[in-house]
Amino acid sequence: MSITNESIHGLSHRLANKEVTSVEATGQFLERIKAVDETVNAYITVADDHAIAQAQEADRRLSSGTNITPLTGVPVSVKDIFCTKEIRTTCGSKMLENFIPPYDATLITKLKAAGAVILGKNNMDEFAMGSSTENSAYSPTLNPWSTAHVPGGSSGGSAASVAADECAASIGTDTGGSIRQPASCCGVVGLKPTYGRVSRFGMIAFASSLDQAGPLTKDVEDAAILLNVMAGHDPADSTSIDAPVPDYTASLKEGVKGLKIGIPKEYFIEGIDPEVDVAVKSAIEVLKEAGAEIVEVSLPHTAYAVSVYYLVATAEASSNLARYDGVKYGMRLDPTGNLTDMYRATREAGFGAEVKRRIMLGTYSLSAGYYDAYYKKASQVRTLISNDFNAAFTKCDVIVTPTAPSPAFKVGERTEDPLTMYLSDIFTISCNLAGIPGISLPCGLSKEGLPIGLQILGRSLDEETVLRAAYAYETATEWHKARPKL
Ligand code: GLN
Repeated sequence: MSITNESIHGLSHRLANKEVTSVEATGQFLERIKAVDETVNAYITVADDHAIAQAQEADRRLSSGTNITPLTGVPVSVKDIFCTKEIRTTCGSKMLENFIPPYDATLITKLKAAGAVILGKNNMDEFAMGSSTENSAYSPTLNPWSTAHVPGGSSGGSAASVAADECAASIGTDTGGSIRQPASCCGVVGLKPTYGRVSRFGMIAFASSLDQAGPLTKDVEDAAILLNVMAGHDPADSTSIDAPVPDYTASLKEGVKGLKIGIPKEYFIEGIDPEVDVAVKSAIEVLKEAGAEIVEVSLPHTAYAVSVYYLVATAEASSNLARYDGVKYGMRLDPTGNLTDMYRATREAGFGAEVKRRIMLGTYSLSAGYYDAYYKKASQVRTLISNDFNAAFTKCDVIVTPTAPSPAFKVGERTEDPLTMYLSDIFTISCNLAGIPGISLPCGLSKEGLPIGLQILGRSLDEETVLRAAYAYETATEWHKARPKL
């Protein structure tokens, strides 16, 4: 019996019924990775031995019948941005090629405590900077639906591993869309929780005021199951929110009757791919038929989001990445024995072109004389963007938009032009600037057979309503059942 196409809840059921053991399930996923990952390249590191040991432990838990969660024995993968004790953590960079963390990220500790099996570490754009996974120092990930296309990014390895059945689910991170945009490109579900909902401890920092971890899954119920495990206050992360965590599966099936869904006119603009436009508009009709009330809302500062993001994110990145200087960890090149030469040689060789571009942009906008004109101005406009959402959420409960302006683009198509690449995130970025939760789920296939994503945004800390609306849409349609023919 093949189980690699199962959801978490499907597999969990089979494990509970003793139809399959965790060791068998893990073995099947490892075989699947061997069979397809040479093509997809969704993993940087496969942790076979660790995974099998965790599966054996999970089987002991399952047969003792105690301490069982919906994740016990379920094989998952994680983006290579999370520190994993004894397992190499590269963040997609040559700089950390040989970095083996001495501790687990809080998120990893939580996954392990729930009994999940961690198969390995997913490919990603270097330091999570990118929208196509082509910025990885470990070769690009390819889209399981069409290997001529990118899987999106930066959590492209995570999204592709879920779509290609190389894991039951994955965890990614989202700073400006890096969970939702690859989910959209690969036809899976991707949820970015509220900023601070999930601990960032042990998650390698890109832009600390925007970074947030979240699940990539085969369906909406799985996203709720994973968020149950991931969410919660962590004293080791001062920005994590100390608020009660609801059971996200409890209200999932309540439907959308009476729910007010806002449609922001600024998100249906010229330049959007016509097939995306049609798919999202028909998704709105589906939600209306399911009982939701559709209202028009306005997010007037949307046009500034990409500019604001690329000032704030690069400024924070330039400061976060200053730590990679050859002194404490990661690569060290010491050509002359002189300290300055060591810094220069290490950073020259360790970072790729996009990371260097971001560090330069960020350093520039933070320098004396420019700070007020750029970074400070961007922070002020960020507040206006946040206020737009607060105003909109007085009129509606969730906001529905496309996740990305087009389906997955071709490998190589945007690598020469960083600006067009940056525009891939036009619909996902505002959500990070405002700190609110957002999900992407499949809502169609293009004529070329590539997935299209629907984005649902919610009020701060209201992942419940986002998940509920997503679940209502998913159950009314068949799109989540479409699978790539890999
Ligand atoms: N694509 C965006 C960027 O390149 C977002 C990345 C992310 O969310 N990590 O910065």
